[in-house]
Amino acid sequence: MNKYDIKQLREKFLLDSDWHIHTNYVHGMHSLSECIKKAESNNLKLIAIVEHVRQNLTYDFLELLKEINRMRKESNVIILLGAEAKIKDEEGNLDISPMVEKKVDIVYGAFHSWFKNSKPKKEEYIEALLNMIKKGVIDIWAHPLLLPRRYNIYFEDEKIIEIIDTLKRYGTYLEINLNYKLPPTNFLNLALEASIPFVIGSDAHNKNQIWNKNKPNFIKLKIWKRIIEKVS
Ligand SMILES: [Zn+2]
Ligand SMILES: [Zn+2]
Repeated sequence: MNKYDIKQLREKFLLDSDWHIHTNYVHGMHSLSECIKKAESNNLKLIAIVEHVRQNLTYDFLELLKEINRMRKESNVIILLGAEAKIKDEEGNLDISPMVEKKVDIVYGAFHSWFKNSKPKKEEYIEALLNMIKKGVIDIWAHPLLLPRRYNIYFEDEKIIEIIDTLKRYGTYLEINLNYKLPPTNFLNLALEASIPFVIGSDAHNKNQIWNKNKPNFIKLKIWKRIIEKVS
């Protein structure tokens, strides 16, 4: 489909966009129109409605697309449709259907659980992550390093740089996820140094969590200043 120039939109609206909003169509609390109204009142110029997907969906994805198309006519906010898919194996394959992959504007790759019975090992995690990026299906890596944090796995700079290099090579965006306060500061610093393109995502499941740049967030002031410098 890709009628939106994602690269251009990202650059133009970086601080006036929220790239990760869930509605009550699936797991969020508020309706699409309530979320859009909130985005308007937060002065956002662009939002991405991102719903969880699986290969076999329990909801009608095409109906969601129709509803978004309807709302696009009623609001000045640019509304992207995204799918948040989980990685399902070490080869980096995603739990997403070809139909959904084709219909959405952006695909988010995420680790929501570990796909093996054992606890993830650092090396296994990195391999799966890099494979997912190299497949070239995802546009954005959602809530980076959430799974390792849950398992108390931490990465030395060398490993982080390997991840960052791969993101850069494949043009995959990094998500600064406000809900989970991720990626960790050392990762974010190295990513900014390497000029990795990023987006800001609230991962809002409630309209009151939608990004508002005038409200405090987890990003340390020093890093925030670097982000602003990059934008201006
Ligand atoms: Zn997620
Ligand atoms: Zn999400």
